[in-house]
Amino acid sequence: MSCAAAVLRAIQRASTAGMSFWISGKALRPRQAVHVLFSGPWTFTPVSKMATVKCELMKNFTSEKPVCHSKVSIIGAGSVGMACAISILLKGLTDELALVDLSEDKLKGEVMDLQHGSLFVKMPNIICSKDYHVTANSNLVIITAGARQEKGETRLNLVQRNVAIFKLMITTIVQYSPHCKLIVVSNPVDILTYVSWKLSAFPKNRVIGSGCNLDTARFRFLIGQKLGIHSESCHGWVLGEHGDSSVPVWSGVNIAGVPLKDLNSAIGTGKDPEQWENVHKEVITSAYEIIKRKGYTSWAIGLSVADLTESILKNLRRTHPVSTIIKGLYGIEKEVFLSVPCVLGENGITDLIKIKLTPEEEAHLKKSAETLWEIQKELKF
Ligand code: NAD
Repeated sequence: MSCAAAVLRAIQRASTAGMSFWISGKALRPRQAVHVLFSGPWTFTPVSKMATVKCELMKNFTSEKPVCHSKVSIIGAGSVGMACAISILLKGLTDELALVDLSEDKLKGEVMDLQHGSLFVKMPNIICSKDYHVTANSNLVIITAGARQEKGETRLNLVQRNVAIFKLMITTIVQYSPHCKLIVVSNPVDILTYVSWKLSAFPKNRVIGSGCNLDTARFRFLIGQKLGIHSESCHGWVLGEHGDSSVPVWSGVNIAGVPLKDLNSAIGTGKDPEQWENVHKEVITSAYEIIKRKGYTSWAIGLSVADLTESILKNLRRTHPVSTIIKGLYGIEKEVFLSVPCVLGENGITDLIKIKLTPEEEAHLKKSAETLWEIQKELKF
């Protein structure tokens, strides 16, 4: 009989005899004692009456601890965190998912809601807590928590507030999962990836910013809409800083190996009669448009993070436009994180693809690097 079953049986026998239990200096009724003994991280296994049936039904064969091969933890169970969670679950990428948030009630509600769908999806074990111990031994930790920008607040002030939050968050994550890879999603993502790299003291391959992964997905979708071709067959990259200053690499946009620049030499410039540059403008404005309409963005970022997760956990070595330390490339000499095509596998980022940029594109990247450094150099760790 397992230890838990033995304890339960003892409590149930005592219950029949009308006994009380003393736990943490309090007298508890047997049912309360069962609750206290088995409340920790919430796993919601219905234990009370099932234990007897369980003992009758099954003979325990081994007392081995469960082995986790691909544990993922998500910090922040808001709109983005939960979209990451469902996307990862639907792809069946993990055998344990841990969620951490400041709000215990919200967490508990989200996990219960997810678990009730386990009949329809092969759900792994899902655990959650305010306490980071549930994240122990993660292969991958995804960070979606952080402070939101207040009205009128400067970017530097927001980042500095996030540094304070990340200090506790990152040091605790590292303590419980010293060998994990980190994916940072919280904004401003390029700076917070730098902050996470500094605070974790992890090697650069293990700290990844979701960067322009979403911008590129939007770019490819919008090109696909214009041509009536699925986005998967529309190849192109948005690089540099995530958001307003991102750089579309028009020279590389191609369908089935046919560069669109060969068909329209002015593509992406102000001189283009077809105004393809509006595609990139829409990439930038679409985030604001979605936020204006529904209050936040969630599904596309969740799906894009699940795609990165798949490359890492399955060691696929696919290329993704993610944020990494770019010092030494394109004449950038500061420790800034920007998106370039990176090869992602079980060790995180193993290689960068040296994409050839036009002098204007390179100048744009350098300018972003300078803007980011202006903020980063003022940060107090
Ligand atoms: P949200 O406010 O809905 O969720 C944030 C969650 O984090 C909340 O549940 C909050 O309780 C939790 N939280 C805050 N501080 C915490 C802490 N110290 N420890 C644990 N949990 C904490 O926000 P959201 O819409 O989910 O967005 C999350 C982040 O993702 C934002 O920074 C947003 O700008 C960013 N984002 C990034 C991209 C991208 O492409 N990189 C896209 C969309 C959103």
